[in-house]
Amino acid sequence: MLIIDFHMHVYEEPWKGWVVDFLKSINPSVDYTKPVKPEHLLRDMDKAGVKYGVVFAESTPQVTGIVSNEFVSRFCSETERLIPFASVNPNLSPDAAGELEYCVKELGMRGLKLLPSYMYFYPNERRVYPLYEMAEKLKIPVIFHTGTSVFKKVRQKFADPLYLDDVAVDFPELTIIMAHSGRGLWYNAAEMLARIHENVYMEISGLPPKKLMSYFPNLEKLSDKVIFGSDWPGCRLDRLVSDIKSLPLSEEAIEKILGRNAAEILGLKNGKDF
Ligand SMILES: [Zn+2]
Repeated sequence: MLIIDFHMHVYEEPWKGWVVDFLKSINPSVDYTKPVKPEHLLRDMDKAGVKYGVVFAESTPQVTGIVSNEFVSRFCSETERLIPFASVNPNLSPDAAGELEYCVKELGMRGLKLLPSYMYFYPNERRVYPLYEMAEKLKIPVIFHTGTSVFKKVRQKFADPLYLDDVAVDFPELTIIMAHSGRGLWYNAAEMLARIHENVYMEISGLPPKKLMSYFPNLEKLSDKVIFGSDWPGCRLDRLVSDIKSLPLSEEAIEKILGRNAAEILGLKNGKDF
């Protein structure tokens, strides 16, 4: 089975102390005080049977820090199994659309990660639209952090997935992915958007697999629109994958969630795995 992890983090500088403590409590197998290397990700991916991983840059200095686009691009260039996604902060970048174009055309990045509640903007603000126009033009997916987050200085109101409704209507050609599927407060809103909009997907990182069916009783029917992600290193990847495999779903639904939907979005459809 082709398995793709759509949500992985790396770090350039050591994370802030409290982030390290938080991660250590979840996944002690990584030494967060030393530089992370591609082999650390690949080791956990191999153990879990994951073929490809999407790795995010992060331009969120107010909350977690900065993981630069250049760093992530370089990091992923060592193996075709790691797929770099850019991060552009519309409040900090003087030319957000231009920066995204640079990341895709010059750095070879293949998607955009936005964290409205860490960057402080509503996804449907018109001033952010040039960024979506550029993503649509470049034919790359945009993944938004949605749902509550325990990190300090996060402003939760910006994480409501409902604001993506405007984006989905105004950019019908843009692939929109809701990381964490509205975790905490907004599961219903996330599910509703994924059902209504052909271009909107739910990504399930940070949600305990055992709770998934209670959050989303219609998961089988939704399986065309659901994507696996782990939030590595804040997870036990092998356990996550085996827990998803044992959900009471058809084999086809599990294959779609664990990899097929992501493969289509990432354009891996004609790869040797199909
Ligand atoms: Zn994450």
